[in-house]
Amino acid sequence: MKKVVIIGSGLGGLATALRLSAMGCKVTVLEKNKTPGGRLNQLVLDGFKFDIGPSFMSMSYELEELFKSCGIANPIGLRELDPLYQVFFEGRSRPYKIHKDLFKLEKEFADIEPDVARKVERYLRKGQQLFHDTDTKVIKTNFYGPLDYLGKLASVPVKHLPYLFRNMWQEVERNFSSQELRVIFSLVSFFLGATPFRTPAIYSLLNYVEFRHNGYWGVQGGMYRIVEALVNTLKSKGVDFVFESEVKKVHIRDNNAVELEDQTGRRWPADIFISNADAASFRGEVLQRPAFSQKRLDKMQWSLAPFTIYLGVKGKIDNAMQHNYFLGSNFKGYAKNVFVSAMAPQRPYYYVNVATKAYPEYAPEGCESILILCPVPDLRFKKDWFDKEDLADNIVGDLSKRIGFDVAKNTLVKKILTPQDWGIMFNLYRGSGLGLCHGMTQIGYLRPSNKDEKLKNFYYVGASTVPGTGLPMVIVGSKLVLERIVHDHGSLS
Ligand SMILES: Cc1cc2nc3c(=O)[nH]c(=O)nc-3n(C[C@H](O)[C@H](O)[C@H](O)COP(=O)(O)OP(=O)(O)OC[C@H]3O[C@@H](n4cnc5c(N)ncnc54)[C@H](O)[C@@H]3O)c2cc1C
Repeated sequence: MKKVVIIGSGLGGLATALRLSAMGCKVTVLEKNKTPGGRLNQLVLDGFKFDIGPSFMSMSYELEELFKSCGIANPIGLRELDPLYQVFFEGRSRPYKIHKDLFKLEKEFADIEPDVARKVERYLRKGQQLFHDTDTKVIKTNFYGPLDYLGKLASVPVKHLPYLFRNMWQEVERNFSSQELRVIFSLVSFFLGATPFRTPAIYSLLNYVEFRHNGYWGVQGGMYRIVEALVNTLKSKGVDFVFESEVKKVHIRDNNAVELEDQTGRRWPADIFISNADAASFRGEVLQRPAFSQKRLDKMQWSLAPFTIYLGVKGKIDNAMQHNYFLGSNFKGYAKNVFVSAMAPQRPYYYVNVATKAYPEYAPEGCESILILCPVPDLRFKKDWFDKEDLADNIVGDLSKRIGFDVAKNTLVKKILTPQDWGIMFNLYRGSGLGLCHGMTQIGYLRPSNKDEKLKNFYYVGASTVPGTGLPMVIVGSKLVLERIVHDHGSLS
């Protein structure tokens, strides 16, 4: 029986542990925090519950596949979102609901852009082709060398080539005439932790994913149910969890990792090791690889950092749905500065999740549990957050005006997490929320590999390795790393 140690209990680590234990491996998971889940975590404060990060997922069939491939009935109940979310535009008197039904969507935007259903239909058809022509060929696949990568790229129909030379914003400009529709269809870039001006147009396939392919899903009982269900299943299969164990060193012999050492000096031997810690910064900070030195890491493109506010509020907010975006009127200027500014945004764009709309049990009766997420520059650009209360007050003041409810006055519980906090909690490089960006030089074979360059028995899973970030993608990553391990080591039992 092969012994495997996994560093980190994020969704990537947990999903990999499930697949390996189903194959008969003896798995131990080391986690630096007191609780499992990584970014998919929860906060409990004075009778209020909050999902600290992810609040919905796409491609729900990847979760289904994970359990099915391990011979386990999926214990997680999902709930489809429709409308997907609503958007508050500065200067508009009402929010706009994003319906999946294009006739409803056309009606919703009738005062802004003509012929919406036809335009969206045409746009989604192109996204559909892109999705199905790339999904198994270049997204859900391992790359065993540059030639393999080029071969797989070459198998994508050549008609998609122009998407490599445009960004998301240019793509939406070609398809929609109003600023509002352009902004809405480019919001998927923010789900990748970037802006549409830095995201290649190929990601317009994500609009097809959100509207048509599989939509967005919430989890019955809250997002943390995913972690609880996985951890319960894993424990019942004999997987060991060690919390408050942060791996600081990898002991190596003959190009093989032999033991991990944590901050207390405890050592963990195994046959195979998998890092669910960030695939780029772990190579630099723990393995001391020159190609991932701090200088090199700083030159890479990192996704935006999260500034999050958790509020337990007295009273019910009628104007909000579960998922809401609050946008300003200077999208281009905002997107240009948000990555590199040394200051907190003065007119922030932000997302508000009123979790109690879906999970009433998240707050005492008559109250709401609210997460506000504002994407901000990472710690390379804005180095400290002594002014965090100012930004939080700015956002809460703006929100109160726009929803007609005095949030500050009714706040019972409040917590702020800055990029510094996020960085420290989960070892996120410079506080970047979603890991490495998905520009053309950081995807596919060019993304840090899920197989270590030097160590024959060391692998990676999670947001900064293949295929990329987001809950469904790290589940796909767990399938890819298993395939890679079996390719290298044969049978694992
Ligand atoms: C604010 C926010 C909102 C998001 N919203 C969504 C959403 O709505 N939908 C969606 O699909 N995705 C969303 N994402 C992205 C999603 O959360 C991530 O892509 C995904 O959770 C990453 O999982 P992971 O397993 O790669 O890493 P992580 O969740 O970061 O797990 C890595 C684990 O490793 C541990 N660790 C790190 N270093 C060590 C070490 N040396 N020793 C021991 N343990 C270590 C960490 O503590 C952590 O628990 C969001 C992310 C953020 C930050």
